[in-house]
Amino acid sequence: MKIQVVNPLTEEALYELDEMGAQEIHDVFSRAHNIQKRIGALTIKERIREVVKVSKYLITNYKSITERLVSETGKTKFEALSNEIFEICDNIDYYRDHAEKILKPQKVHTPLVLMGKNSKIQFEPMGVVLIIAPWNYPLIQCFLPSILAFLAGNAVVYKPSEITPLKGLYEEILNGSGFMNDAIQIVYGGKETGAALIEQKPDKIHFTGSTRAGKQIMAAAAKYLIPVDLELGGKDPAIVFEDVNIEKTANGLVWAAFTNAGQSCTSIERCYVHESIFDEMTEKIVSITKKLRLANHECEDCEADVGCMTAEFQLKKVEEQLKEAKEKGAQIHCGGSTIKGTRIMPPTVVTNVTNDMELIREETFGPVLPLIKFSSEEEVIRMANDSEYGLSASVWSKDLKRAERVASALKVGNVAINNHMLTEANPALPFGGVKNSGFGRYKGDFGLHTFSNVKSIISGPNNKVIEPHWYPFTKMKFDTFPKLMEAFFSRPRKWIRFALVGMKLDSMGNKEKINLKE
Ligand code: NAD
Repeated sequence: MKIQVVNPLTEEALYELDEMGAQEIHDVFSRAHNIQKRIGALTIKERIREVVKVSKYLITNYKSITERLVSETGKTKFEALSNEIFEICDNIDYYRDHAEKILKPQKVHTPLVLMGKNSKIQFEPMGVVLIIAPWNYPLIQCFLPSILAFLAGNAVVYKPSEITPLKGLYEEILNGSGFMNDAIQIVYGGKETGAALIEQKPDKIHFTGSTRAGKQIMAAAAKYLIPVDLELGGKDPAIVFEDVNIEKTANGLVWAAFTNAGQSCTSIERCYVHESIFDEMTEKIVSITKKLRLANHECEDCEADVGCMTAEFQLKKVEEQLKEAKEKGAQIHCGGSTIKGTRIMPPTVVTNVTNDMELIREETFGPVLPLIKFSSEEEVIRMANDSEYGLSASVWSKDLKRAERVASALKVGNVAINNHMLTEANPALPFGGVKNSGFGRYKGDFGLHTFSNVKSIISGPNNKVIEPHWYPFTKMKFDTFPKLMEAFFSRPRKWIRFALVGMKLDSMGNKEKINLKE
């Protein structure tokens, strides 16, 4: 099947994409399994050297890569540079310094009842990791999980979204940077291709996308018991208390609602403002929003703060949600309807919204900021948690104690205080959601461990001691064992008694074994 790729801002047809056939997909996996053996044999230092090549290439070639990203996503140039290219380089930089330590075998505590033994955790490659991504941040959603999976010793098969396939760009970056051949392979196509890739039984699936597709992928993976990480949709709340600096907070909220034209899984989708500052905050937000410069479909090079919507179907969803909200009494303060003949939806601020509106219950994934009044801390926690989603959230207040308390009460995976989406900016912090926003964590230590077979190893000497918990189970052993338990589990522990009973049990094991033989 052929897929037509368009520039969402100008609607110009860019190219046609051929979906990969079954034989080619099979060949991709054969190559992945072969190369994985070589990747697994590399030291972590050698793997780091490979990924740093990608970072260097991105920094040198940022201009052409930015243009390519803008032409398929419709985002602004600065967003392409800061949210995608910079973020990839920043994460590589972090793992350059930390990957060895994170993947190093970890010695762990061995309890006294296992005296003479050593315990450790080893992080080993899983094999071939399949990464399936959406269209909103196509470069980082390829390179971030791919690089983490590679650092952990895996080969990667990556399927970009059919809406923003960036055909040829990934290969250009990988080949141009001199990155290890075939270690990350790209397979183009739609959801049928995604399903065909799962049938190749990868050793792990890392999926980013809608909750709907996440459930389908989990069901397909269940057939072969393939472990999955699901990074799904969100309905992120921002909670704004009465003591905030209005100017700073309003600017932060506007940015966090409209960045990437609201097509970010963690952009603000519901903003709860304390009733005592609601009118002032609404006025400020509307005034800042009205000054934002929109992308211009007739002037691709003009400066812009807010890009267009990438996918036509998503734009329709935003329009439908706004239509329903208006019919139910919502008040639109600015924006509200698409610029005719384009995919440009001006940033929209809405009040008078209620919980029965799709706009408040379902993910919007567009440049819409609904403002909702609240009167108490207890009430706003309840309102924020009243959602099927649980990706991230933000709390805004000068009272950091209160902000921390509210952050702890929110049922989400990530919270920023006096900012939004900021946990994602720190490569040391794990990222992921709860409820319908998915599960699994990546980035930070989790970023490498999630792509590892976490293996436990315990080792002891091969001497003549017959372990007391081995056969035979005699009456004498049954009568002696409680004495060991009593000595060991009391506080303070009765060390001398524990040692004496332990020695007795050890010798009993040996003697009884010998007796049995005789
Ligand atoms: P989508 O779920 O429609 O598609 C995502 C990817 O999955 C695409 O590559 C698609 O081809 C593939 N796919 C879809 N159905 C499949 C199936 N049954 N089997 C195999 N592959 C399948 O999502 P989208 O519209 O591309 O992206 C938008 C969604 O992504 C939003 O819900 C957004 O919140 C979410 N998202 C989440 C995060 C996160 O980190 N939590 C980040 C970005 C986007």
